[in-house]
Amino acid sequence: MTLPDVAPTDHPLLRIENVTVDFDGFKALNDLDLTLEAGSLTVVIGPNGAGKSTMCDTVIGRVRASEGRILFRGEDISKLSEHRIVERGICRKFQTPGVLIGLSVIDNLLIAAAKDRRWWASFMLRASGENRRKAEEVLELVGLQSRRDALAGELSHGEKQWLEIGMVVATEAELLLLDEPTAGMGAAESTRTAEIVRGLIGRHAVLVIDHDIDFVEQLGGHVVVLHQGHLFKQGSMAQIRGDDEVAAIYLGRPKS
Ligand code: ADP
Ligand code: MG
Repeated sequence: MTLPDVAPTDHPLLRIENVTVDFDGFKALNDLDLTLEAGSLTVVIGPNGAGKSTMCDTVIGRVRASEGRILFRGEDISKLSEHRIVERGICRKFQTPGVLIGLSVIDNLLIAAAKDRRWWASFMLRASGENRRKAEEVLELVGLQSRRDALAGELSHGEKQWLEIGMVVATEAELLLLDEPTAGMGAAESTRTAEIVRGLIGRHAVLVIDHDIDFVEQLGGHVVVLHQGHLFKQGSMAQIRGDDEVAAIYLGRPKS
């Protein structure tokens, strides 16, 4: 009998274990505890300044926890460099699109599939068949087939965001962190974004941060409400919507 080459996963994919982030006495995260399972969709909402972006920064190693640990597949990654954390299989999309505007849509996806941007200049000559297949698959997943050979710089704002989601997906990271993927989008584009994100469930665990309640509703995942760096409530969107305490801190406020 041969042993499996991956360790059995009796660990959840990600554990944020009692994490506190202290910025000179101000606790941007305060004893935050959150677990994500492989292939799941978790949506994090909360008022401005709740600590949502800090949570992502801490998972990816850009900000350090002063207390607590972050475990990825059971491994403590809280002391690893961002580079090592990305290697482990976590990829973050930032609020602002980071596409290479002078390259075509498909070439942007090819570079992301190659996983190492330092090599991009020489990469075009030696893109592997596997990377090409991955890039074409992701092109379809994000619905940009008709824009395949357009320069990324010519895309609309929404299309750029979708390309960037595609680039995160093309890295094949097991955990994708999407910080406000609908920033600057209209209603139709947000709806399309929700479809794209839902298409990732199962293959990736996805953690989405967003302010837009309609979008969160369309996503339909497990909702986590952050407030003052703490996990305030979690549940389905229907439960969160019906929660008076959540309404008091967040839902009653105008969208920001
Ligand atoms: P959110 O993404 O939920 O709007 P953030 O995580 O960006 O909130 O910020 C949480 C709080 O931490 C805010 O009050 C913010 O001003 C503060 N903060 C974020 N980054 C830093 C930093 N590098 N130094 C000091 N304070 C910070
Ligand atoms: Mg933020």
